[in-house]
Amino acid sequence: MQKTNAPVAKELVLVGGGHSHVAVLRRFGMRPLPGLRLTLITRDIHTPYSGMLPGYIAGHYDFDECHIDLGPLARFAGARLYHGEVEGLDPEARVLHVSGRPPVYFDLLSINTGSRPGTVDVPGAVEFALPVKPIDAFLRRWERLIERVTASRGSFRIAVVGGGAGGVELALATQYRLQKLLAERGDDPDRLEYVLLTQGPEVLPTHSEGVRKRFVRVLGERSVRLLTNHRVTEVREGAVLAGGHAEVPADAVLWVTSASAPTWPAQSGLAVNDAGFIRVDANLQSISHPGIFAAGDVAALPDPRPKSGVFAVRQGPVLTDNLRRAATGRDLRPYRPQRNFLGLISTGDRYAVASRGEWSMEGAWLWRMKDWIDRRFMTRFNELPDMPEEAGPKLASGVADHEAIRELSTLAMRCGGCGAKVGSTVLTRVMQRLPVTRRDDVVLGIDAPDDATVLSVPPGRLLVQSVDYFRAFIDDTYTFGRIAANHALGDLFAMGAEAQSALAIATVPYGRERVVEESLYELLAGALAVLQPSGAVLAGGHSSEGAELAFGLTVNGLVDPDAIWRKGGMRPGDALVLTKPLGTGTLFAADMRRKAKGRWIEDAITSMCLSNQVGGECLRRFHATACTDVTGFGLLGHLLEMTRASEVDVVLEVNALPLLDGAAETVAAGILSSLQPQNLRLRRGVADLERAARHPHFPLLFDPQTAGGLLASVPASEAQDCVEELQRLGYPAAAVIGRVEARSDAPEPVRLVL
Ligand SMILES: Cc1cc2nc3c(=O)[nH]c(=O)nc-3n(C[C@H](O)[C@H](O)[C@H](O)COP(=O)(O)OP(=O)(O)OC[C@H]3O[C@@H](n4cnc5c(N)ncnc54)[C@H](O)[C@@H]3O)c2cc1C
Repeated sequence: MQKTNAPVAKELVLVGGGHSHVAVLRRFGMRPLPGLRLTLITRDIHTPYSGMLPGYIAGHYDFDECHIDLGPLARFAGARLYHGEVEGLDPEARVLHVSGRPPVYFDLLSINTGSRPGTVDVPGAVEFALPVKPIDAFLRRWERLIERVTASRGSFRIAVVGGGAGGVELALATQYRLQKLLAERGDDPDRLEYVLLTQGPEVLPTHSEGVRKRFVRVLGERSVRLLTNHRVTEVREGAVLAGGHAEVPADAVLWVTSASAPTWPAQSGLAVNDAGFIRVDANLQSISHPGIFAAGDVAALPDPRPKSGVFAVRQGPVLTDNLRRAATGRDLRPYRPQRNFLGLISTGDRYAVASRGEWSMEGAWLWRMKDWIDRRFMTRFNELPDMPEEAGPKLASGVADHEAIRELSTLAMRCGGCGAKVGSTVLTRVMQRLPVTRRDDVVLGIDAPDDATVLSVPPGRLLVQSVDYFRAFIDDTYTFGRIAANHALGDLFAMGAEAQSALAIATVPYGRERVVEESLYELLAGALAVLQPSGAVLAGGHSSEGAELAFGLTVNGLVDPDAIWRKGGMRPGDALVLTKPLGTGTLFAADMRRKAKGRWIEDAITSMCLSNQVGGECLRRFHATACTDVTGFGLLGHLLEMTRASEVDVVLEVNALPLLDGAAETVAAGILSSLQPQNLRLRRGVADLERAARHPHFPLLFDPQTAGGLLASVPASEAQDCVEELQRLGYPAAAVIGRVEARSDAPEPVRLVL
């Protein structure tokens, strides 16, 4: 990871992983600015590269070939990656409101969130049309449309609304793919009927006469009916209406009209144009709010250009430079858009038309050239160069970053007492912002601060305690707080206890007071988001500043003496149930090396954020006799603890083990957690080891888990119902993974079925 480890002086928040921001991330990864912390907030972890989108729809590229994976890119940039959708902005308070997490503070803000097609004011369009933006949503619905078409009988009519380059390309790409699929199934490709509607007198209005003629010809050759001067006024089920014209029947409507703006920038008070796009000056800086930048489709430039990925890409380097300049208090430099650019518009069948000013040309070789250019572009983002592990201030070169370094030195001096407590005013402010809950059995807690927390244990109950502590393994402070709390509580739920209270120990990176406050706030807000639904209160803790983010919790639970689950309760004949998939160790080891796909990490995070509380309650209803949570020692380590305590053997069905997406791939690539060798020592507990070790999933038995699932022995007669109930309750990967047998003479208590 490109980390500077310098104190955080300023927060630069990038909203949206669009075509400009991917360049910003790459460039900051190549040359970090010590003291400037980057955070990327994005709704989607994979950015579709607009140039390859029609090729993807036509079936020429797979998902990874035409998507920029923001996970490894953010790691390369040393940026925190916050997966969420920005829903509001308060430019005065300098905070962003993001779905599913607390507000995010910024010193500098850059917005590159793209646009949406303007369906909003056409009746029926939202209900019945498939808007092409947001693209990820379109791609999901496109897969469903493929299923509908292939399952249909007789003619199937598709109307494409919008006659710009996007609409024309989409019509031809979808037609190519669907006809090919039908032909491959022995079905009649000609039962597809296409119509393209556009409100103006011609298609491709921003291109030359030559380009238009070529496309009118291509559309004719491909039997796409072109309806010009058809402004769609309504979409109904099965038809589109264009004022003054006859109804156009349509079984599916693809909506690719001119771009419309998201609503939150205008609502925030940022200066926007009549259409709601953010008004920026030539430096890409908001004309109303210095320190806020915008690029790509969402920005309204003084010298406007068509909304196109090409321009968003071109703005990336200037935007990076200006963000760097703004962070260091230097003059900004203008972005000078080119007047003419070479557009390569594809026809779906590996053929393209070139357009530049009045000039045009067409051919299959142009598609090959476009393919080569696009693939080369993608390589820059999906094959990132290796950089030194720690890029210190020496990487910030020249006068350019002088100011930042000076500011940092001041900060570094302030941080002289490293490891010092977070200042009491900061702590007080953070606590005031957090929701406080109370319990009668927490006699003195965080709302009545004293030298220590005072808890009472109700008569007849026992106190259960556990402690966990982690260095941050993800660059998302709030989510890290959630996972750490979940992991810690897992021990209580595995004992059958009810969560009562927690004490937190937090280390947040050195930085400016406001930055420290926000880090601590996000961390504790994350922990509280998990503690509160579990019934536990945050009763106290300790916080300090340090070189890196780290967090731990001591958790206290209450249990009835006869309800304690021990590891030693397994009985021969029981089934082994695991509630969550395995693989967090290898996946995060791969993530550190930028070898994990962003979507794998997102799935792993979702799994780690899933509490074991409901799962534990379910296991109890199905009469589980022993339970543990699968964490640092890996599945086998924890299972051996159970077999030893229960004096039983177990048979594990390796092929039944639920795995996180990507875990098998990262293990196959030889990427393992640093704890793996230690855990692997326990392999002597496995019978017929040589054979067992040949199974590709064998290493996952030793993979250390963070916030892993519960492993329980359940009466065999109830196991299947238990798993179905767990799945219904939100543990989709829950599975029966083996059975318990009486202790045999074999020295190894674990036998694998491969
Ligand atoms: C079918 C089709 C074909 C096209 N073909 C081409 C082409 O060949 N060449 C070309 O140059 N252009 C093409 N375009 C246009 C091009 O797609 C857009 O101009 C381009 O994607 C805009 O880039 P951007 O960087 O502004 O935003 P985008 O690429 O749209 O990226 C926006 C990002 O912001 C994120 N985001 C959005 N809202 C939020 C939010 N509220 N909070 C957090 N994150 C958010 C999204 O997840 C996304 O990652 C095509 C468009 C279509 C519809």
